[in-house]
Amino acid sequence: MIPFDYQRADHAEGAVAAVGDRSGATFLGGGTNLVDHLKLGITEPELLIDITRLPFDAIDPLPDGGVRIGATVRNSDLAAEAIIRQRYPVLSQALLSGASGQLRNLATTGGNLLQRTRCPYFQDVTTPCNKREPGSGCSALNGYTRNHAILGASEHCVATHPSDMAVALAALDATVQVTGPNGQRGIPVTDLHRLPGDEPHRDTVLEHGELITSVDLPELPRSTRSRYRKVRDRASYAFALVSVAAVLEIEGDTVREARIALGGVAHKPWRASTAEQALRGAPTTEESFRSAAEAEIAQAQPLADNEFKLPMARNTLTATLRDLAGKESR
Ligand SMILES: Cc1cc2nc3c(=O)[nH]c(=O)nc-3n(C[C@H](O)[C@H](O)[C@H](O)COP(=O)(O)OP(=O)(O)OC[C@H]3O[C@@H](n4cnc5c(N)ncnc54)[C@H](O)[C@@H]3O)c2cc1C
Ligand code: SF4
Repeated sequence: MIPFDYQRADHAEGAVAAVGDRSGATFLGGGTNLVDHLKLGITEPELLIDITRLPFDAIDPLPDGGVRIGATVRNSDLAAEAIIRQRYPVLSQALLSGASGQLRNLATTGGNLLQRTRCPYFQDVTTPCNKREPGSGCSALNGYTRNHAILGASEHCVATHPSDMAVALAALDATVQVTGPNGQRGIPVTDLHRLPGDEPHRDTVLEHGELITSVDLPELPRSTRSRYRKVRDRASYAFALVSVAAVLEIEGDTVREARIALGGVAHKPWRASTAEQALRGAPTTEESFRSAAEAEIAQAQPLADNEFKLPMARNTLTATLRDLAGKESR
C-alpha cells in the first residue's frame, strides 16, 4: 500500500480547511468503501481526514416538522431509530436491504451517499475506465453489462449508482447540507448525483473540500405511505439489480401525490417523474399502476446483457405501488 497521512478532525472548519487546502486530501467516514479503493489502487490520497468524531452523529427533529440526520450517523443506528421506522419506513427498509450488519455498523450517512459505483471495470485498475481515468475509454460498453444502466447513460459511461439509502432519500425529497471552502449550502438530494454525460469521473456536484454535515428530511403528510423494494441476485448482501422507493399519498381510491425513485438502473437514483405524473389523480388500480410503470420504463435503453431489467423494473414498480395501496397509512 502507498503511504498516506492520517488525522482525526475535531471540528468541521478544520476538516474542511485540511481537505480544501490539499488536492490529495480526502474525508474518511466508516471507510467501508474508501479503504477498499485504497487497497485496489483506485485512489491514492496523500492525507485522510477522519471525520467520525465530528458532532454529526445525532438524529434530531427539525422545527418545521422534519428530521435532521447527522452525516456520521451509522447506517444501523439510522435504520433502527424509532422516528425513521415510524415516519419514513422507506428509508429504514432501504438501509436494512443494503450490505451486511457488520458493514452497516460502520457505514455513515455521508459516506453511503458518496460511495462509488460497483462497475467491475471501475474496480479493476488493469482495464480502461473513463470514470477512474478520464479519456481512457469504457470497458463495459463492449464488455459485460448485466448490472449496468438502462436509463440516463452516455457513450462515456453506463455505470449504476449503488446506494440503496440514496434511492429512498431521493423519493423523500431530502436535502443534503454541506459546508465547504466557500461556505454552506443545501443541495436537494435529487441534484447531488450526476448523470455521466461526458464527465463520468464526476459522480456528484460537490466541489473538492465540501463536507456533508447532515441530511434533512421534510415532514410528510400523515396520509403518506412509503415502501422500499429491492430485487437482487441473493436474498441479502447483494447490490440491487432494480429497486423501487415509493412514497404515496392516497385519498379514498385516488392517488393524490406520488414520489418515486428507482435504483440499479442509472448513474444516480432515478426519479421516476413520468410515472409520478401519470399517477397523480389516478385511481389506485392495477391498471393505472402498470401503465405508470410502463410509461417510465418506455424511456429505457437496455445494453447487451441487461434487457431483463426492463420487465423487472416495470413489475417491481407495479408491485410496490399495489403493495402500498393495500397498506395502512405510513
Ligand atoms: C461487500 C459490500 C456490500 C455492500 N452492499 C451494499 C448494498 O447492498 N447497498 C448499499 O447501499 N451499499 C452497500 N455497500 C456499500 C456500503 O454501504 C458503503 O461502503 C458505505 O455506506 C460507505 O459509507 P462509509 O461511511 O464507510 O464511507 P467511506 O468509505 O468512509 O467514504 C466513502 C466516500 O465518501 C466520502 N465521505 C465520507 N463521508 C463524507 C462526508 N460526510 N462528506 C463528504 N465526503 C464524505 C469519502 O471521502 C469517500 O470518498 C456494500 C459494501 C460492501 C463492502
Ligand atoms: S461503465 Fe463507467 S465505470 Fe464502468 S467501465 Fe465504463 S466508464 Fe468505467
